[in-house]
Amino acid sequence: MLEQKNKILFAIEEISQQMATLARDIHAQPELSFEEHHASAALQAPLQAAGFSVTRGVAGLKTAFRARLDSGKPGPHVALLAEYDALPELGHACGHNLIGTASVAAAVALATSGTLQSGVLEVIGTPAEEEGGGKIIMADNGVFSGIDAVMMFHPREKNMMTRGALACVDATFKFYGKASHAASAPHLGISALDAVIQTFVGINALRQFFTDDVRVHGIITHGGSATNIVPAYAEAKFLMRAASVSGLQTVRSKVFAAAQGAAAMSGARLEIEEGLTYAERNNNLTLAGLFQANLEQLGLAAEAAPERGGVGSSDIGNVSQLTAAIHPYLRIGDVIPHTPEFAVAAASDRGIEAMLNAARALAMTTLDLQQADTLKNVRNEFLAWQSSVSQEK
Ligand SMILES: [Zn+2]
Ligand SMILES: [Zn+2]
Repeated sequence: MLEQKNKILFAIEEISQQMATLARDIHAQPELSFEEHHASAALQAPLQAAGFSVTRGVAGLKTAFRARLDSGKPGPHVALLAEYDALPELGHACGHNLIGTASVAAAVALATSGTLQSGVLEVIGTPAEEEGGGKIIMADNGVFSGIDAVMMFHPREKNMMTRGALACVDATFKFYGKASHAASAPHLGISALDAVIQTFVGINALRQFFTDDVRVHGIITHGGSATNIVPAYAEAKFLMRAASVSGLQTVRSKVFAAAQGAAAMSGARLEIEEGLTYAERNNNLTLAGLFQANLEQLGLAAEAAPERGGVGSSDIGNVSQLTAAIHPYLRIGDVIPHTPEFAVAAASDRGIEAMLNAARALAMTTLDLQQADTLKNVRNEFLAWQSSVSQEK
């Protein structure tokens, strides 16, 4: 195994310049969710050159892809996920240029080093993580069925193996009232804005009764057009989060009731537009342990992830409900995602080095899974979790 892993390290070294250029090229041309045409094609090219067969437009998403290398022998089916969408105004301030490139580099190294001796290896290009839930759409379309393990890395300010993520869903509350002169005939109007304000007040009153894991945060997206017109239309958008999808359902029904109550009080009519539900992240601890051991072999130490709080949500949560999955973080500097400073770090030498270390550890962990016992331990943990969850329901 050591010899095989050395071959991997050598193969990564061979392509390190090419992969640094690829990551910086995607960084220089940031594309928003579902519009990542350049990044998607740029990531597919080295995979195709290394012998992967590439399918584009997976699950009806133009910028999604699936690159597959079949060893021809029975064995593990492993998928490395590639993200490559950017943020409005900030560009690659979440470092997805490094995520996509790390998975591609790991897969190319596994292919060219001849170390993949059984099973199927895929790189699955998953667009629209920031906005749109690409992986949720792909999961609902069966893209991840039959896959034994899924891995990716994310850049951050610390090396963390098993950080959690909350379940979440967004809802837009659209209130339809009745316009009238705000001074001469207010009694003939119905204020949609009052309904929005009462929704905020109602939700704030609920906070005492939420469990500590819950987060509810909203903005007013339309509040009226002129001060002398009773607002006929007003709109607010909220994001609700909880530790699990089942807990989220309770939060959702309480928040919806607050909006419905506000509509009843004001006389406005309410329409609710609901987004996709992001599931909580289920980290496979066995798989995370393998990744960590490989990282330590590379001379990197992992820090403890926060047990609670300080976390967001991500669409890999939905994938982690279907198969064994990990989403470890590697440090690229003292920077927090979604800031201009993080965007700079995502193209820095330190960012590139983290991306290459992620590629090394992802490829080495893929090799670990080639051993039947190791794969079995990972799968058994997932199956035990799955049956414990179905018993709860
Ligand atoms: Zn992000
Ligand atoms: Zn991200």
